[in-house]
Amino acid sequence: MKKIYFLVLLAGIIAISACENRTAISKKEVNNDNLLIATLYHQKSAERDALCLQAYNMAKYRLDDILAENPDSSKLAIVLDLDETVLDNSPYEAKCILRNISYPTGWDEWMHAACAKELPGAVEFLEYVKSKGVSIFYITNRKEKYKNATMQNLQKLGIAPVSEAHLLLRTDESSKEPRRQKVLEGHKIIMLFGDNLADFTKVFDGKKSVNERLELVISLKDEFGDRFIVFPNTMYGDWLNAVIDHNFNLSPAAKIEKQKNELQGF
Ligand SMILES: [Mg+2]
Repeated sequence: MKKIYFLVLLAGIIAISACENRTAISKKEVNNDNLLIATLYHQKSAERDALCLQAYNMAKYRLDDILAENPDSSKLAIVLDLDETVLDNSPYEAKCILRNISYPTGWDEWMHAACAKELPGAVEFLEYVKSKGVSIFYITNRKEKYKNATMQNLQKLGIAPVSEAHLLLRTDESSKEPRRQKVLEGHKIIMLFGDNLADFTKVFDGKKSVNERLELVISLKDEFGDRFIVFPNTMYGDWLNAVIDHNFNLSPAAKIEKQKNELQGF
């Protein structure tokens, strides 16, 4: 009998805890509806894979051209962003949808799991760059506290930086310009890789509007596919922040309303 009481009590405790969890989650307004298609694109569209392969193939051709003109590669470097450029974080976005949570909840867990897979073409391309004697620098806005986990993740994929100095994480500011300048002290940067325009040049830093970003891209049109190699990211980024005027205080409903208002129909 005592055993039955204990089991009933245990079931009660589990039920209460589960309710508390749901309450805790529902207290924080989350709406991941828009993230569903965006994340499916990254996980299920062969087109996403094809775009990544296209980017890395193009970069390889460019590298060959550059090396034909500059046989001494000792001072040449490429700079890559990590998230959604080399590493695929879509499992974290998927988890957000499935658990009805939003960033930064669960990000720590994902970072420390150090199990992000490489984007198609990344490992092969980086091995090629290495074989040509060109230096590889990763400039990422992952926080410094994720340095070990990031190193571990890159080691698992066989693309760890040659030294800690080749992995520049975010310290005091999100702008990557000071870190690019640091690389420039000893190297010539021949190509930059990223999914966010601020990965390429400081002109995209700060809270730029949608139109400013579109105009800047046109003004730099010759750089894309030449020095700037861009990767798709439908899940997050400055493009999406610009759509909501960088107003992160909007409620999920207001955010969706604002996004709908930005649509141009006919
Ligand atoms: Mg990125």
